[in-house]
Amino acid sequence: MTNPTIIDGTFLAMKKIEAVREQVEKICSQSLRAPKLAVILVGDNEASKIYVRNKEKKAKECFIDSETIILPSDVSKEELEETIFKLNLDEKVDAILLQLPLPQNLISDSFDEKYFLSLISPSKDVDCLTSFNQGRVFNGSSSIYPCTPQGVLNLIDFTYSDLDTSISFDSIKSANLAGKSALIVGRSLLVGKPLSLMLLNRNATVTMAHSKTQNLQDLVKDKDIIVTATGYPKLFNSQNVKDGAILIDVGINKLENGKLVGDLDFESFKNKDCYITPVPGGVGPMTIASLMENVVKLYKNR
Ligand code: NDP
Repeated sequence: MTNPTIIDGTFLAMKKIEAVREQVEKICSQSLRAPKLAVILVGDNEASKIYVRNKEKKAKECFIDSETIILPSDVSKEELEETIFKLNLDEKVDAILLQLPLPQNLISDSFDEKYFLSLISPSKDVDCLTSFNQGRVFNGSSSIYPCTPQGVLNLIDFTYSDLDTSISFDSIKSANLAGKSALIVGRSLLVGKPLSLMLLNRNATVTMAHSKTQNLQDLVKDKDIIVTATGYPKLFNSQNVKDGAILIDVGINKLENGKLVGDLDFESFKNKDCYITPVPGGVGPMTIASLMENVVKLYKNR
């Protein structure tokens, strides 16, 4: 009987955080100011509050300066715009993150989340969500990449480096993905779409699937890499998944009993010869570590 090999995102994220911290220590040892991240949190979304607290904690671990601007859920469009403009002009702020989702009262037909994201200066857009930076991701010329897809790519490279835990984060090589077939399920601007371009730019052959795709269980056949980012539990099981495939589960789903699970039917993979990320402990920690990496990159760019 075979077992899946677990891709330990918590471990890899720790390595990445160590590498970021070393860079910040080097900056500070030259009597320069530390890189600074500003997070805008609007409203009372409980999950968002937890994410923001985790980001503050990680920034502290990396010696990155962080500030969270908390705005009430009934904040006006103008006040949110003003907050973003001020941060754009603040010389000491290198990276701006507008925590999503925004409260419904801010959203209208003319002003959706994309509108508010578009107000962030591209040079401070830490999650590559402005149209300008999305364009650079599209043509492969960006100096930073969106945090979750970047974390997914790191996990893939780590797996192709035989999950060698003895090497430092910076010595993990970019895997040669030419000739590899990848399936991405989910086409959001945050995860699926940018990831598809990043894999394409790395010469993988990419198939995209979404909620209108038929026969997903057939589509997984012969894929070397499968990434799911849907928020839909038990999307598919191990049937038709080829031996040795790499499965990266981005999804986070809370079941009625409070348990957190991903998109994959994880149990069905328990006798499968494959590489798979757990939920929690897979992509989540890598997303935050990539955010810290991007803050330092934006600081250096400026
Ligand atoms: P979105 O809701 O923006 O996008 C979901 C995508 O999944 C859509 O493209 C949708 O298709 C597709 N989809 C939904 N149901 C199905 C289905 N049954 N079969 C195939 N495709 C389906 O979500 P996000 O991309 O923002 O997030 C996706 C998941 O990843 C969520 O669970 C989220 O919590 C998690 N996440 C985790 C992160 C981490 O760090 N671990 C970071 C970001 C997100 P269509 O376009 O047709 O509607």
